[in-house]
Amino acid sequence: MQDLQSILDGAVSALSSIDNPALLEEVKARYLGKSGLLTERLKALGKLSPEARPAAGAEINRVKLAVEAALQARRDHIAAQQLERQLSAQALDVTLPGRGAGNGGLHPVTRTLARIREVFHSLGFDVADGPEIETDAYNFTALNIPENHPARAMHDTFYLDATHVLRTHTSPMQVRYLESRKPPVKVIVPGRVYRCDSDMTHTPMFHQVEGLWVDEAVTFSGLKGVLIDFMRRFFEQDQLKARFRPSFFPFTEPSAEMDIGCVICEGQGCRVCSHTGWLEVLGCGMVHPNVFAPLGIDSERHVGFAFGMGVERLAMLRYGVNDLRLFFDNDLRFLEQFR
Ligand SMILES: [Zn+2]
Repeated sequence: MQDLQSILDGAVSALSSIDNPALLEEVKARYLGKSGLLTERLKALGKLSPEARPAAGAEINRVKLAVEAALQARRDHIAAQQLERQLSAQALDVTLPGRGAGNGGLHPVTRTLARIREVFHSLGFDVADGPEIETDAYNFTALNIPENHPARAMHDTFYLDATHVLRTHTSPMQVRYLESRKPPVKVIVPGRVYRCDSDMTHTPMFHQVEGLWVDEAVTFSGLKGVLIDFMRRFFEQDQLKARFRPSFFPFTEPSAEMDIGCVICEGQGCRVCSHTGWLEVLGCGMVHPNVFAPLGIDSERHVGFAFGMGVERLAMLRYGVNDLRLFFDNDLRFLEQFR
């Protein structure tokens, strides 16, 4: 009976230093397993006298229950420790600052396009969209640029096959738009265009905005009024000077190029305006009768004007950017300045 107490003490002391479940099972086997210390005692009960058996049996059971209780207590303790370790390893400090989840910003070209759309919308122009893969016929022939016309060579065209090109300008939309609508029409067409060219002022892809107004009483002075008004609002300069120089485009007659007073130096002369005080900003003109004829539009009754401007050019002037390629480098140090 005395060594039962020492068995219990031994078990309790062995358990007190155990901190993993596998060792716990070993201790359990040592005391309660098939040939464990307490199991052997129970088997040995038969050798005792019948009078001694009940008391001895009760005492063995008491110790057995005490060992089982100690095992369970240690098991709970180990589980609690494990949970504690896991929780502290996965701890999340919600007071820490976040990792650079800053706000994005619109690309300067996107901002410029939105601004152009907004001004023309307020002047009553609709907005249309056209295909970037264009047929040779729409990109050139329908715009009075027949095969072997020198203007085709000027465009540095990306040909996809014998009859398809990446459009070199947004002007094909003049034709496409008029195919499905009768005058009066008043529309701008912003979009990407492509030329096989790359340096400080040219990229293979850039954006243009085409404009077209066809009605019965459209005049060249109306064209000048719309474009001057647009430039003044775009650059937020009420007194911005403008001038129109005669030029040539196959699909307009007469044609002109528009200059504005340099917005960088205000006409004093600087590197951007090549010290002339003027900046060339767009091409325009009255729609050529050869463009109208195949569309069934009577040039005696309807007249129209068209214009095309480079979006990156306007963005560079507005934001004072001196290298066109910066718009397409995706350098965050540059883009972050346009938040
Ligand atoms: Zn200047």
